[in-house]
Amino acid sequence: MSFSSLGLSEPLLKAVAERSYTTPTPVQVAAIPAVLRGADVWASAQTGSGKTAAFALPILQRLAAGHRERGRFVRALVLAPTRELAAQIGESFRHYSRHLPEPVKVLVVYGGVSINPQMMALGGGADVIVATPGRLLDLIDHNAVSLSAVSTLVLDEADRLFDLGFADELNRILTLLPVRRQNLFFSATFPPEVQALATALLRDPVRIEVAAAPATAPDILQRAIEVDPPRRTQLLRHLIEENKWTRVLVFVATKYATEHVAEKLRKAGIGATAFHGELSQGARTQALAAFKASKVQVLLTTDLASRGIDIAQMPVVVNFDLPRSATDYTHRIGRTGRAGESGLAVNFVSAGTHAHFALIEKRNGFSLPREQIAGFEPEELEVPADPTGGIKGKRPNKKDKLRAAAARAAGQTPVAPVAKEKKFSWPRVR
Ligand code: AMP
Repeated sequence: MSFSSLGLSEPLLKAVAERSYTTPTPVQVAAIPAVLRGADVWASAQTGSGKTAAFALPILQRLAAGHRERGRFVRALVLAPTRELAAQIGESFRHYSRHLPEPVKVLVVYGGVSINPQMMALGGGADVIVATPGRLLDLIDHNAVSLSAVSTLVLDEADRLFDLGFADELNRILTLLPVRRQNLFFSATFPPEVQALATALLRDPVRIEVAAAPATAPDILQRAIEVDPPRRTQLLRHLIEENKWTRVLVFVATKYATEHVAEKLRKAGIGATAFHGELSQGARTQALAAFKASKVQVLLTTDLASRGIDIAQMPVVVNFDLPRSATDYTHRIGRTGRAGESGLAVNFVSAGTHAHFALIEKRNGFSLPREQIAGFEPEELEVPADPTGGIKGKRPNKKDKLRAAAARAAGQTPVAPVAKEKKFSWPRVR
Protein backbone atom coordinates (compact mmCIF):
# COMPACT_ATOMS: atom_id res chain seq x y z
CA MET A 1 0.00 0.00 0.00
CA SER A 2 1.34 3.43 -0.91
CA PHE A 3 0.19 7.00 -0.28
CA SER A 4 -0.38 7.54 -3.99
CA SER A 5 -3.00 4.78 -4.07
CA LEU A 6 -5.10 6.62 -1.48
CA GLY A 7 -6.25 9.32 -3.90
CA LEU A 8 -4.08 12.17 -2.65
CA SER A 9 -2.97 14.92 -5.01
CA GLU A 10 0.63 15.44 -6.16
CA PRO A 11 1.38 18.47 -3.95
CA LEU A 12 0.29 16.53 -0.87
CA LEU A 13 2.23 13.43 -1.91
CA LYS A 14 5.32 15.58 -2.32
CA ALA A 15 4.96 16.94 1.23
CA VAL A 16 4.45 13.42 2.57
CA ALA A 17 7.57 12.23 0.76
CA GLU A 18 9.53 15.05 2.35
CA ARG A 19 8.60 13.62 5.72
CA SER A 20 10.14 10.33 4.55
CA TYR A 21 6.98 8.35 5.19
CA THR A 22 7.08 5.38 2.86
CA THR A 23 3.90 3.49 3.71
CA PRO A 24 0.68 4.83 5.17
CA THR A 25 -0.22 3.62 8.66
CA PRO A 26 -3.43 1.55 9.10
CA VAL A 27 -5.46 4.55 10.27
CA GLN A 28 -4.27 6.53 7.25
CA VAL A 29 -5.19 3.70 4.86
CA ALA A 30 -8.70 3.60 6.30
CA ALA A 31 -9.35 7.29 6.95
CA ILE A 32 -7.85 9.13 3.96
CA PRO A 33 -10.18 7.76 1.25
CA ALA A 34 -13.19 8.09 3.57
CA VAL A 35 -12.45 11.72 4.43
CA LEU A 36 -11.75 12.50 0.77
CA ARG A 37 -15.21 11.34 -0.24
CA GLY A 38 -16.79 13.43 2.51
CA ALA A 39 -17.77 10.67 4.92
CA ASP A 40 -17.88 11.03 8.69
CA VAL A 41 -15.25 9.02 10.55
CA TRP A 42 -15.31 7.31 13.92
CA ALA A 43 -11.74 6.28 14.70
CA SER A 44 -10.37 4.67 17.78
CA ALA A 45 -6.77 5.64 17.33
CA GLN A 46 -4.29 7.39 19.49
CA THR A 47 -1.27 9.59 19.16
CA GLY A 48 1.46 7.59 17.54
CA SER A 49 -0.89 5.92 15.06
CA GLY A 50 -0.35 8.57 12.40
CA LYS A 51 -3.86 9.97 12.91
CA THR A 52 -2.90 13.62 12.34
CA ALA A 53 -1.91 12.98 8.74
CA ALA A 54 -4.97 10.72 8.43
CA PHE A 55 -7.23 13.75 8.78
CA ALA A 56 -4.94 16.67 7.79
CA LEU A 57 -4.04 15.38 4.31
CA PRO A 58 -7.57 14.71 3.02
CA ILE A 59 -8.93 17.87 4.67
CA LEU A 60 -6.30 19.92 2.84
CA GLN A 61 -7.16 18.23 -0.43
CA ARG A 62 -10.85 19.04 0.01
CA LEU A 63 -10.08 22.61 1.01
CA ALA A 64 -7.82 23.09 -2.00
CA ALA A 65 -10.63 21.90 -4.25
CA GLY A 66 -13.38 23.92 -2.61
CA HIS A 67 -14.17 27.60 -2.81
CA ARG A 68 -12.73 30.12 -0.42
CA GLU A 69 -14.84 31.93 2.16
CA ARG A 70 -14.25 35.61 2.79
CA GLY A 71 -14.45 37.40 6.13
CA ARG A 72 -14.14 35.92 9.58
CA PHE A 73 -15.01 32.44 8.41
CA VAL A 74 -13.32 29.15 9.10
CA ARG A 75 -13.55 26.16 6.80
CA ALA A 76 -12.07 23.37 8.88
CA LEU A 77 -12.05 23.34 12.66
CA VAL A 78 -9.88 20.99 14.68
CA LEU A 79 -10.46 20.86 18.43
CA ALA A 80 -7.66 19.48 20.54
CA PRO A 81 -7.35 19.14 24.32
CA THR A 82 -3.95 20.71 24.91
CA ARG A 83 -1.87 23.56 23.59
CA GLU A 84 0.96 21.24 22.70
CA LEU A 85 -1.23 18.94 20.67
CA ALA A 86 -2.88 21.91 18.95
CA ALA A 87 0.54 23.32 18.04
CA GLN A 88 1.65 20.00 16.63
CA ILE A 89 -1.46 19.54 14.55
CA GLY A 90 -1.07 23.08 13.22
CA GLU A 91 2.51 22.35 12.28
CA SER A 92 1.43 19.22 10.39
CA PHE A 93 -1.23 21.14 8.44
CA ARG A 94 1.34 23.77 7.52
CA HIS A 95 3.87 21.21 6.42
CA TYR A 96 1.47 19.16 4.33
CA SER A 97 0.04 22.25 2.64
CA ARG A 98 3.38 23.70 1.57
CA HIS A 99 3.19 22.63 -2.10
CA LEU A 100 -0.49 23.36 -2.68
CA PRO A 101 -0.95 25.88 -5.51
CA GLU A 102 -2.94 28.28 -3.27
CA PRO A 103 -1.64 29.00 0.21
CA VAL A 104 -3.77 27.60 3.01
CA LYS A 105 -4.13 29.76 6.09
CA VAL A 106 -3.69 27.65 9.20
CA LEU A 107 -4.10 29.21 12.63
CA VAL A 108 -3.46 27.64 16.00
CA VAL A 109 -5.21 29.22 18.97
CA TYR A 110 -4.94 28.23 22.61
CA GLY A 111 -5.22 29.79 26.03
CA GLY A 112 -2.48 30.77 28.45
CA VAL A 113 -1.09 33.39 26.08
CA SER A 114 -2.32 36.84 25.12
CA ILE A 115 -5.49 36.79 23.02
CA ASN A 116 -4.68 39.94 21.01
CA PRO A 117 -2.19 38.49 18.53
CA GLN A 118 -4.61 35.63 17.90
CA MET A 119 -7.42 38.11 17.23
CA MET A 120 -5.20 40.04 14.84
CA ALA A 121 -4.14 36.86 13.06
CA LEU A 122 -7.77 35.92 12.59
CA GLY A 123 -8.50 39.01 10.56
CA GLY A 124 -9.85 37.75 7.26
CA GLY A 125 -10.69 34.32 8.67
CA ALA A 126 -8.69 31.16 8.21
CA ASP A 127 -8.93 27.99 6.19
CA VAL A 128 -8.03 25.80 9.15
CA ILE A 129 -8.22 26.63 12.82
CA VAL A 130 -6.72 24.28 15.35
CA ALA A 131 -7.96 25.29 18.77
CA THR A 132 -8.36 24.37 22.37
CA PRO A 133 -12.06 24.81 23.22
CA GLY A 134 -11.87 27.55 25.86
CA ARG A 135 -9.82 29.97 23.79
CA LEU A 136 -11.92 29.36 20.70
CA LEU A 137 -15.02 30.42 22.66
CA ASP A 138 -13.19 33.52 23.92
CA LEU A 139 -12.44 34.45 20.32
CA ILE A 140 -16.01 33.83 19.28
CA ASP A 141 -17.19 36.02 22.17
CA HIS A 142 -14.86 38.74 20.90
CA ASN A 143 -16.44 38.39 17.45
CA ALA A 144 -13.04 37.50 16.07
CA VAL A 145 -14.24 34.38 14.35
CA SER A 146 -17.42 32.78 13.07
CA LEU A 147 -18.01 29.04 12.83
CA SER A 148 -20.98 29.31 10.51
CA ALA A 149 -19.03 28.19 7.43
CA VAL A 150 -17.18 25.23 8.94
CA SER A 151 -17.42 22.34 6.52
CA THR A 152 -15.30 19.85 8.49
CA LEU A 153 -15.03 19.40 12.23
CA VAL A 154 -12.33 17.26 13.78
CA LEU A 155 -12.44 16.25 17.42
CA ASP A 156 -8.99 15.00 18.23
CA GLU A 157 -8.40 13.02 21.41
CA ALA A 158 -12.07 13.41 22.26
CA ASP A 159 -11.73 11.35 25.44
CA ARG A 160 -9.05 13.70 26.65
CA LEU A 161 -11.27 16.71 25.91
CA PHE A 162 -13.73 15.21 28.39
CA ASP A 163 -11.02 14.25 30.90
CA LEU A 164 -9.89 17.85 30.95
CA GLY A 165 -13.41 19.09 31.64
CA PHE A 166 -14.19 20.60 28.23
CA ALA A 167 -17.68 19.03 27.92
CA ASP A 168 -19.56 22.34 28.35
CA GLU A 169 -17.29 24.22 25.97
CA LEU A 170 -17.62 21.44 23.45
CA ASN A 171 -21.40 21.52 23.61
CA ARG A 172 -21.46 25.26 23.13
CA ILE A 173 -19.12 25.07 20.15
CA LEU A 174 -21.26 22.36 18.55
CA THR A 175 -24.33 24.61 18.67
CA LEU A 176 -22.43 27.25 16.70
CA LEU A 177 -21.56 24.97 13.79
CA PRO A 178 -23.64 24.55 10.66
CA VAL A 179 -25.81 21.45 10.69
CA ARG A 180 -24.47 20.16 7.39
CA ARG A 181 -20.83 19.35 7.87
CA GLN A 182 -18.35 16.51 7.92
CA ASN A 183 -17.38 15.18 11.37
CA LEU A 184 -14.18 13.33 12.12
CA PHE A 185 -13.98 11.85 15.56
CA PHE A 186 -10.71 10.52 16.95
CA SER A 187 -10.39 9.08 20.41
CA ALA A 188 -8.10 6.58 22.06
CA THR A 189 -10.86 5.28 24.31
CA PHE A 190 -14.65 5.38 24.23
CA PRO A 191 -16.01 5.76 27.74
CA PRO A 192 -19.82 6.28 27.85
CA GLU A 193 -19.85 10.09 27.51
CA VAL A 194 -17.46 9.97 24.54
CA GLN A 195 -19.47 7.19 22.94
CA ALA A 196 -22.67 9.21 23.44
CA LEU A 197 -21.15 12.27 21.78
CA ALA A 198 -19.83 10.22 18.86
CA THR A 199 -23.24 8.64 18.36
CA ALA A 200 -24.99 12.02 18.47
CA LEU A 201 -22.50 13.72 16.19
CA LEU A 202 -21.68 11.26 13.46
CA ARG A 203 -23.82 10.39 10.49
CA ASP A 204 -23.27 6.92 9.10
CA PRO A 205 -19.58 7.05 9.97
CA VAL A 206 -16.80 4.90 8.61
CA ARG A 207 -15.57 3.09 11.71
CA ILE A 208 -11.86 2.62 12.10
CA GLU A 209 -10.29 0.54 14.81
CA VAL A 210 -6.54 0.54 14.87
CA ALA A 211 -5.67 -2.93 16.01
CA ALA A 212 -2.18 -2.39 17.33
CA ALA A 213 -2.31 0.58 19.66
CA PRO A 214 1.13 1.79 20.70
CA ALA A 215 0.70 0.35 24.19
CA THR A 216 0.37 -3.16 22.96
CA ALA A 217 2.68 -2.87 19.99
CA PRO A 218 5.41 -5.44 20.26
CA ASP A 219 8.12 -2.85 19.73
CA ILE A 220 7.72 -1.37 23.21
CA LEU A 221 9.63 -3.35 25.76
CA GLN A 222 7.98 -2.95 29.16
CA ARG A 223 9.77 -3.55 32.45
CA ALA A 224 8.66 -3.46 36.08
CA ILE A 225 11.43 -2.78 38.57
CA GLU A 226 10.84 -3.13 42.29
CA VAL A 227 12.26 -0.31 44.35
CA ASP A 228 11.46 1.47 47.60
CA PRO A 229 10.06 4.95 46.94
CA PRO A 230 12.85 6.90 48.67
CA ARG A 231 15.44 5.26 46.42
CA ARG A 232 13.76 5.92 43.10
CA THR A 233 15.80 8.99 42.17
CA GLN A 234 19.04 7.13 42.79
CA LEU A 235 17.79 4.16 40.80
CA LEU A 236 16.76 6.44 37.95
CA ARG A 237 20.19 8.02 37.95
CA HIS A 238 21.80 4.58 38.00
CA LEU A 239 19.70 3.36 35.07
CA ILE A 240 20.40 6.50 33.03
CA GLU A 241 24.13 6.19 33.56
CA GLU A 242 24.34 2.42 33.28
CA ASN A 243 22.27 2.22 30.10
CA LYS A 244 23.56 5.50 28.66
CA TRP A 245 20.02 6.72 28.08
CA THR A 246 20.22 9.99 26.24
CA ARG A 247 16.57 11.01 26.20
CA VAL A 248 14.21 9.98 28.95
CA LEU A 249 10.67 11.10 29.67
CA VAL A 250 9.90 10.55 33.35
CA PHE A 251 6.37 10.66 34.74
CA VAL A 252 5.80 11.67 38.34
CA ALA A 253 2.58 12.25 40.25
CA THR A 254 2.76 15.92 41.13
CA LYS A 255 4.04 19.22 39.81
CA TYR A 256 6.14 19.51 42.93
CA ALA A 257 7.78 16.17 42.19
CA THR A 258 8.70 17.25 38.66
CA GLU A 259 10.70 20.14 40.12
CA HIS A 260 12.06 18.18 43.05
CA VAL A 261 13.32 15.17 41.09
CA ALA A 262 14.68 17.41 38.32
CA GLU A 263 16.63 19.33 40.92
CA LYS A 264 18.06 16.15 42.44
CA LEU A 265 19.12 14.87 39.03
CA ARG A 266 20.73 18.17 38.15
CA LYS A 267 22.70 18.04 41.38
CA ALA A 268 23.90 14.61 40.28
CA GLY A 269 25.11 16.13 37.01
CA ILE A 270 22.26 14.93 34.80
CA GLY A 271 20.58 17.53 32.57
CA ALA A 272 16.95 17.48 33.71
CA THR A 273 14.04 19.87 33.49
CA ALA A 274 10.45 19.99 34.75
CA PHE A 275 7.40 20.29 32.51
CA HIS A 276 3.98 20.88 34.03
CA GLY A 277 0.83 22.90 33.75
CA GLU A 278 1.79 25.61 36.20
CA LEU A 279 4.75 26.76 34.15
CA SER A 280 4.09 29.73 31.92
CA GLN A 281 3.52 28.92 28.28
CA GLY A 282 6.96 30.34 27.50
CA ALA A 283 8.63 28.09 30.07
CA ARG A 284 6.76 25.07 28.77
CA THR A 285 7.76 25.75 25.20
CA GLN A 286 11.33 26.30 26.30
CA ALA A 287 11.49 23.09 28.35
CA LEU A 288 10.11 21.08 25.47
CA ALA A 289 12.41 22.72 22.94
CA ALA A 290 15.46 22.04 25.12
CA PHE A 291 14.43 18.41 25.45
CA LYS A 292 13.70 18.01 21.74
CA ALA A 293 17.04 19.58 20.87
CA SER A 294 18.77 17.19 23.33
CA LYS A 295 19.96 20.10 25.46
CA VAL A 296 18.49 18.32 28.46
CA GLN A 297 18.51 14.60 28.84
CA VAL A 298 15.55 14.06 31.15
CA LEU A 299 12.12 15.67 31.07
CA LEU A 300 10.16 15.29 34.30
CA THR A 301 6.47 15.64 33.78
CA THR A 302 3.00 14.96 35.08
CA ASP A 303 0.32 13.40 32.90
CA LEU A 304 0.15 16.69 31.06
CA ALA A 305 2.69 15.38 28.59
CA SER A 306 1.33 11.88 28.38
CA ARG A 307 -0.78 12.60 25.36
CA GLY A 308 -0.38 14.48 22.22
CA ILE A 309 3.20 15.53 22.51
CA ASP A 310 5.08 14.18 19.62
CA ILE A 311 8.76 13.91 20.24
CA ALA A 312 10.50 12.00 17.54
CA GLN A 313 12.79 9.33 18.93
CA MET A 314 11.66 8.98 22.50
CA PRO A 315 13.50 5.80 23.36
CA VAL A 316 12.71 5.61 27.08
CA VAL A 317 9.70 6.41 29.23
CA VAL A 318 9.88 5.90 32.99
CA ASN A 319 6.89 5.70 35.29
CA PHE A 320 8.61 7.00 38.41
CA ASP A 321 5.12 7.26 39.91
CA LEU A 322 2.59 4.92 38.38
CA PRO A 323 -0.28 6.44 36.43
CA ARG A 324 -3.73 6.64 37.97
CA SER A 325 -5.48 4.42 35.47
CA ALA A 326 -4.84 1.70 32.94
CA THR A 327 -5.76 4.16 30.20
CA ASP A 328 -3.26 6.73 31.43
CA TYR A 329 -0.68 3.96 31.38
CA THR A 330 -1.40 3.35 27.71
CA HIS A 331 -1.04 7.02 26.93
CA ARG A 332 2.14 7.42 28.86
CA ILE A 333 3.97 4.52 27.35
CA GLY A 334 2.59 5.46 23.94
CA ARG A 335 5.14 8.31 24.07
CA THR A 336 7.77 5.77 23.07
CA GLY A 337 7.91 3.22 20.26
CA ARG A 338 6.21 5.62 17.89
CA ALA A 339 5.67 5.03 14.20
CA GLY A 340 7.67 1.87 14.07
CA GLU A 341 10.57 2.78 16.33
CA SER A 342 11.36 0.56 19.25
CA GLY A 343 10.90 1.87 22.75
CA LEU A 344 11.38 1.02 26.38
CA ALA A 345 8.88 1.69 29.17
CA VAL A 346 10.16 1.24 32.71
CA ASN A 347 7.85 1.11 35.72
CA PHE A 348 8.98 1.64 39.27
CA VAL A 349 6.89 -0.57 41.50
CA SER A 350 7.04 -0.49 45.29
CA ALA A 351 5.42 -2.51 48.03
CA GLY A 352 2.73 0.12 48.27
CA THR A 353 1.97 0.31 44.55
CA HIS A 354 2.32 -3.37 43.73
CA ALA A 355 -1.45 -4.02 43.82
CA HIS A 356 -2.16 -0.92 41.77
CA PHE A 357 0.30 -2.00 39.09
CA ALA A 358 -1.19 -5.49 39.04
CA LEU A 359 -4.54 -3.86 38.25
CA ILE A 360 -3.01 -1.83 35.41
CA GLU A 361 -1.50 -5.03 34.02
CA LYS A 362 -4.80 -6.86 34.28
CA ARG A 363 -6.81 -4.09 32.65
CA ASN A 364 -4.31 -3.81 29.81
CA GLY A 365 -3.98 -7.55 29.43
CA PHE A 366 -0.31 -8.03 30.14
CA SER A 367 1.83 -9.22 32.98
CA LEU A 368 5.45 -8.29 33.56
CA PRO A 369 8.03 -10.13 35.59
CA ARG A 370 9.18 -8.08 38.59
CA GLU A 371 12.85 -7.23 38.40
CA GLN A 372 15.25 -6.05 41.04
CA ILE A 373 18.43 -4.14 40.36
CA ALA A 374 21.51 -5.02 42.38
CA GLY A 375 22.04 -2.40 45.06
CA PHE A 376 18.41 -1.24 44.89
CA GLU A 377 16.58 -4.28 46.23
CA PRO A 378 13.49 -3.14 48.09
CA GLU A 379 13.24 -3.52 51.82
CA GLU A 380 9.68 -2.40 52.37
CA LEU A 381 6.98 -5.02 52.38
CA GLU A 382 3.54 -4.78 50.94
CA VAL A 383 1.37 -2.38 52.88
CA PRO A 384 -1.89 -3.99 53.95
CA ALA A 385 -4.88 -2.39 52.26
CA ASP A 386 -6.46 0.14 54.56
CA PRO A 387 -9.40 2.09 53.21
CA THR A 388 -8.75 5.02 55.54
CA GLY A 389 -5.34 5.43 54.03
CA GLY A 390 -3.81 5.33 57.48
CA ILE A 391 -1.00 3.19 58.73
CA LYS A 392 -1.91 -0.10 60.28
CA GLY A 393 -1.55 -0.08 64.05
CA LYS A 394 -1.85 3.68 64.26
CA ARG A 395 -5.04 5.69 64.10
CA PRO A 396 -4.74 8.12 61.24
CA ASN A 397 -4.46 11.70 62.39
CA LYS A 398 -5.55 14.70 60.33
CA LYS A 399 -2.18 14.94 58.60
CA ASP A 400 -2.30 11.26 57.66
CA LYS A 401 -5.76 11.71 56.22
CA LEU A 402 -4.73 14.72 54.18
CA ARG A 403 -1.70 12.89 52.94
CA ALA A 404 -3.76 9.83 52.08
CA ALA A 405 -6.26 11.98 50.19
CA ALA A 406 -3.44 13.63 48.25
CA ALA A 407 -1.92 10.24 47.51
CA ARG A 408 -5.26 8.89 46.36
CA ALA A 409 -5.76 11.91 44.13
CA ALA A 410 -2.36 11.26 42.62
CA GLY A 411 -3.15 7.59 42.21
CA GLN A 412 -0.55 6.46 44.66
CA THR A 413 -1.02 4.06 47.50
CA PRO A 414 0.05 6.04 50.53
CA VAL A 415 3.36 4.62 51.57
CA ALA A 416 5.23 7.86 52.12
CA PRO A 417 4.32 8.23 55.83
CA VAL A 418 5.94 4.89 56.62
CA ALA A 419 9.21 5.82 55.02
CA LYS A 420 9.23 9.41 56.09
CA GLU A 421 8.10 9.39 59.67
CA LYS A 422 9.99 6.27 60.63
CA LYS A 423 7.47 5.75 63.44
CA PHE A 424 7.93 2.03 63.00
CA SER A 425 9.29 -0.24 60.31
CA TRP A 426 7.91 -3.33 58.79
CA PRO A 427 9.68 -6.51 59.91
CA ARG A 428 12.01 -7.87 57.26
CA VAL A 429 11.04 -11.30 56.08
CA ARG A 430 12.98 -13.08 53.39
P1 AMP B 1 0.38 11.07 15.16
O1 AMP B 1 -0.30 9.80 15.58
O2 AMP B 1 -0.36 11.81 14.12
O3 AMP B 1 0.75 11.93 16.34
O4 AMP B 1 1.76 10.66 14.46
C1 AMP B 1 2.76 9.99 15.16
C2 AMP B 1 4.10 10.10 14.48
O5 AMP B 1 4.15 9.27 13.35
C3 AMP B 1 4.47 11.49 14.01
O6 AMP B 1 5.82 11.70 14.35
C4 AMP B 1 4.31 11.43 12.52
O7 AMP B 1 5.19 12.33 11.91
C5 AMP B 1 4.67 10.00 12.23
N1 AMP B 1 3.99 9.43 11.06
C6 AMP B 1 2.73 9.72 10.63
N2 AMP B 1 2.44 8.99 9.54
C7 AMP B 1 3.52 8.24 9.27
C8 AMP B 1 3.83 7.26 8.26
N3 AMP B 1 2.96 6.91 7.33
N4 AMP B 1 5.04 6.68 8.31
C9 AMP B 1 5.93 7.00 9.27
N5 AMP B 1 5.71 7.91 10.24
C10 AMP B 1 4.52 8.51 10.24
